Amino acid sequence: MPYPSKQADTTAPSITRETIPDEQWNDWRWHMRKRINTAEKARQWINLTADEEKAMAETAGKYRWSITPYYASLMDPDDPLCPVRQQAVPALSELMEHTGADIDPVGDMFYRKTNRVVHKYPDRAILLVTETCPVYCRHCTRKFHTTEVDGTYFEKNEGEDLDDDLRYIAEHPEIRDVLLTGGDPLSYRDDRLEEIISGLRAIPSVEIIRIGSRFPVLLPQRITDELCAMLARYHPVWLNTHFNHPKEITPEAERAIDRLLGHGIPVGNQTVLLRGVNDDVATMRFLMTELLRIRVRPYYLYHCDNVTGVSHFMTSVEKGWEIMEGLQGHITGFGVPQYVLTTRLGKIPMAQPCHRLTSEGLVLRNYKGQEMVVDSAACPLTEADLDRDPAAREKGRDRK
Ligand SMILES: *Cc1c(COP(=O)(O)O)cnc(C)c1O
Ligand code: SF4
Repeated sequence: MPYPSKQADTTAPSITRETIPDEQWNDWRWHMRKRINTAEKARQWINLTADEEKAMAETAGKYRWSITPYYASLMDPDDPLCPVRQQAVPALSELMEHTGADIDPVGDMFYRKTNRVVHKYPDRAILLVTETCPVYCRHCTRKFHTTEVDGTYFEKNEGEDLDDDLRYIAEHPEIRDVLLTGGDPLSYRDDRLEEIISGLRAIPSVEIIRIGSRFPVLLPQRITDELCAMLARYHPVWLNTHFNHPKEITPEAERAIDRLLGHGIPVGNQTVLLRGVNDDVATMRFLMTELLRIRVRPYYLYHCDNVTGVSHFMTSVEKGWEIMEGLQGHITGFGVPQYVLTTRLGKIPMAQPCHRLTSEGLVLRNYKGQEMVVDSAACPLTEADLDRDPAAREKGRDRK
């Protein structure tokens, strides 16, 4: 009997970071061209499970998917539960019906004033620049916009000019803060982006321009010196990005952040609390301290909304509280994001208060669970408490 030949290793991943020349690796356009969007291409990077293959076939035409080679290089080739892989590879759970799920639970459509402007808060608005992203995050809160379940937000073609949108902003001078989002605005070429940003800058009432972009996480090579220099011509410009797991903090990401900061663009981070990805204290604490190390300021921790196709990533609010308890006091205050629930009424701060009022006074609790009572002499609670105290009244008069 012939010696059984070793089966051709057709399923073993054949591409890794090491097999790609630096010149290509460092070129963001190369990554955009080489985005992974078929099972065949995905198999070059990871060993797909039967469920993942099935999900790719069954989500086709419903939910877009695409992964940059850079982001694929962070995936564990053998572990389908890898936190990076779960954010990027389609899953069958996306197709399951969940009670209470909605394509727009936060009511953005209700506050949409023009093709691209969502004006929900008095002094700020978002401008939906595009519906394109380098990677289509499986947990995207605008999944129906970025993946066309029932069409996108755009009634008119995305390529149309922004005249109506900029006019709306100019005619509402109370808008002093405009946030470019989408999709990912940095999907556009620099010159197209500059057209939009210079259009905004030409409106005197617009004070700050903010960019929401996940490129520093999904394809940090996009953050070139040219891009940063262009943005810096329109200061004050701020950028918020979206790191969800410490695995995403790589030398490439660190360089992208350094470049933004070097051009005077402050960088914040918005994390989404995702079941099975980052829903434990140790991961979250490590993520926040890693962000501080690369000088990114944690801004929001979003509770995962019950968005159609995303529900399987939802955690309980209790889990969010547990994580906040594990951050507050354990790491520096500016490493602790604000835990928020996005609703039709806006973003609602959710962290549990560390104080409660009793007949003895105000009971305070620290990060170790130790409690103390402060009475209203030590810490006046109300304006009336202050007024009752003659010494405080005297001081108040001195100041005037
Ligand atoms: C989140 C959000 C903003 C920006 O809110 P900040 O709390 O200032 O970051 C603006 N408009 C809409 C519709 C939003 O959802
Ligand atoms: S980059 Fe942002 S907008 Fe794009 S798919 Fe991911 S979460 Fe959604």
